[in-house]
Amino acid sequence: MNSPWHISILTLFPEMFPGPLGHSLSGKALENGIWSFKAVNIRDFAQGVHKSVDDTPYGGGAGMVMRPDVIEKATLSIENPGRKIYLSPRGKPLTQKLVQELSEEPALTLLCGRYEGVDQRVLESQDYEEISIGDYVLSGGEPAAMILMDACIRLLPGVLGNEDTVSEESFSSGLLEYPHFTRPAQWTSADGHIREVPEILTSGDHSKIRDWREGQAESVTKARRPDLWNIRENARLSGKKPKK
Ligand code: SAM
Repeated sequence: MNSPWHISILTLFPEMFPGPLGHSLSGKALENGIWSFKAVNIRDFAQGVHKSVDDTPYGGGAGMVMRPDVIEKATLSIENPGRKIYLSPRGKPLTQKLVQELSEEPALTLLCGRYEGVDQRVLESQDYEEISIGDYVLSGGEPAAMILMDACIRLLPGVLGNEDTVSEESFSSGLLEYPHFTRPAQWTSADGHIREVPEILTSGDHSKIRDWREGQAESVTKARRPDLWNIRENARLSGKKPKK
């Protein structure tokens, strides 16, 4: 029986999973059956003595391309694939809004590319959606799949145990989060500086603390991510709710 959030991973390296996801929050959630996964070895669907999964690119050029027939067979072997995702630098960016959406799907299939990527025809025939984790190139889709999964798992009901945490986090209201402080209230760093916690945080005045945090979140967003700030400002000026 699958858990409410079941992930099938198509990979040439099934032993990489659950990897880091078997630890801490996600590991506990895995143990508790909040999510489950099956790593499918793409090579099991290759033919011939060499079990080749890749071939040279038509049109020439460097590198190898994953074969459509092998990827198709591997995809069709999955009983309940749900939404099918190919992790790819050419994909749409993985945002917190998309993470939220994917965490609400009962099942996902994540295709991890290697080499130069996957033959375009099978991505189309099998309706793969392409998702990128950022504007840089990894050597394989496995770390990208893990990042996508980690971001989704922490949103699954029962994983964090405190819904407020998520609603105040970076990106959930279109802003980066305010800064955090903990004990000691006065701390001398290695350079001899005495560093205090902002006074307002020890005042016990919750409404003032809320306003201060909001102000901090706004100024850090304006300074570090003018792109996010502009989206929020444009939404505010047009009377729309800011997008996540
Ligand atoms: N030739 C591809 C390109 O320039 O777009 C890069 C291929 S990369 C070496 C091999 C695999 O790593 C890809 O097929 C993809 O599955 C994965 N990958 C690399 N960068 C990624 C990213 N930013 N987001 C998601 N997956 C990525």
